[in-house]
Amino acid sequence: LSDKLELTFKKLAGQATINEINIGIAMRDIKRALLSADVNYKVAKKLVEDIREKSLGEEVIKSVSPAQMIVKIVNDELTELMGGENKPLNLSPKKLPAIIMVAGLQGSGKTTFCAKLARRLKKNGKNPLLVAADVYRPAAIDQLKTLGEQVEVPVFSIEEPDAMKAVMQGLEAARAGAKDVLIVDTAGRLQIDEKMMAEAEAIKNALKPDELLFVVDSMMGQEAVNTAREFNERLDFDGVVLTKLDGDARGGAALSIRQVVEKPIKFISIGEKVDDLDLFYPERMAQRILGMGDIVSFVEKAQETLDIEKTMQMQKRLMKNEFDLNDFFDQLQQLKKMGSIQGLIEMVPGLNKMVPKQEIENLDFRPIEAMINSMTKQEKENPEIINGSRRQRIAKGSGTKVQDVNLLLKQFGEMKKMMRSVSKLSQSGRKITSQN
Ligand code: GDP
Ligand code: MG
Repeated sequence: LSDKLELTFKKLAGQATINEINIGIAMRDIKRALLSADVNYKVAKKLVEDIREKSLGEEVIKSVSPAQMIVKIVNDELTELMGGENKPLNLSPKKLPAIIMVAGLQGSGKTTFCAKLARRLKKNGKNPLLVAADVYRPAAIDQLKTLGEQVEVPVFSIEEPDAMKAVMQGLEAARAGAKDVLIVDTAGRLQIDEKMMAEAEAIKNALKPDELLFVVDSMMGQEAVNTAREFNERLDFDGVVLTKLDGDARGGAALSIRQVVEKPIKFISIGEKVDDLDLFYPERMAQRILGMGDIVSFVEKAQETLDIEKTMQMQKRLMKNEFDLNDFFDQLQQLKKMGSIQGLIEMVPGLNKMVPKQEIENLDFRPIEAMINSMTKQEKENPEIINGSRRQRIAKGSGTKVQDVNLLLKQFGEMKKMMRSVSKLSQSGRKITSQN
């Protein structure tokens, strides 16, 4: 998809405004490209119409070309069509255990997803129980048990081939064991058939799950859309899990499914390992479909007019060795304004492979902010005066440990040193070119 679009945008480069002619060329190619990325025909058609309308009204901002502007408009439209933002799991806090049920065709990745979700919930402080309701194949139960061991979450199963019995006894076991989330893995078939649907429906009616998630293989392309529609008509599920996005699927399925069933995609599965699960972010998926994340963020930054003045000011302060914890605090705020760090890292090719995803998602600035907020004006301006007793006071005031304060001050010192050497370097570089 991105190759083709790139060609289109090359054609459009250098033109001053978005007009009927250049938008016409762009839209024809974009539609063709969407179709080849497995986006449903009707969805692609509607998208192109919407974008044409929006683009023609749009003014092209100065620092950006019309081509770049169109990419941004397409991206925003795709994001909107996929729900705008991530819709989290909706688990009732009152009813215990909260119940999550999964359904989908055989091989779509249900069992794997159940284990991944259990792991994720456990990490978030929950106490889940997995239930094997795919009772017809002993191998299916063994698979869940093996995965359960891996993620250290217990698995409830029975020997008899009676799914309803397994589920109801599983619910009892969860209550008896004070579990707060029940995750029910059901049986799927290779194709939609009445028996599978009837069973899933019966389990749904008996359990009344908080979340009935439909799991679908993104590599199935158009077939994924039809399957989603049929499951939704019968089961009226709450959300979608899109699996196997680590394959060469371009994400077109995400767009089509969302449009056709009008249910949020909540998770994406991106590999066979138990950690290969992500929340679904429409914006990231849009960029994946377009393959032009860097242009999109470039235009965004131009639109937001990043606080350049502030940065310049900071540079000056840095040179004069005045950079202090107030500036550091401001930098953190800027970083947050720019959106998720994960998103930034994904923009840089190669970097996303170097930095473990989990670590980034777990980054939390709150303790740092609390510590800086607990400092006096003098301390922020002159971190050198922060001695042992001041450190103790700051830790107490911010609800952190003295070691945390130590670490913050150490990192601040290192950052300052590094920034100074970088700006010195660029300074000397400038001198050489001006002399030459
Ligand atoms: P189920 O029949 O719906 O329960 O599907 P399974 O969970 O047993 O998964 C079927 C196969 O797909 C297994 O070999 C999984 O390891 C594999 N699988 C599941 N999710 C993913 C994924 O996101 N990426 C890849 N590459 N393989 C996956
Ligand atoms: Mg299974």
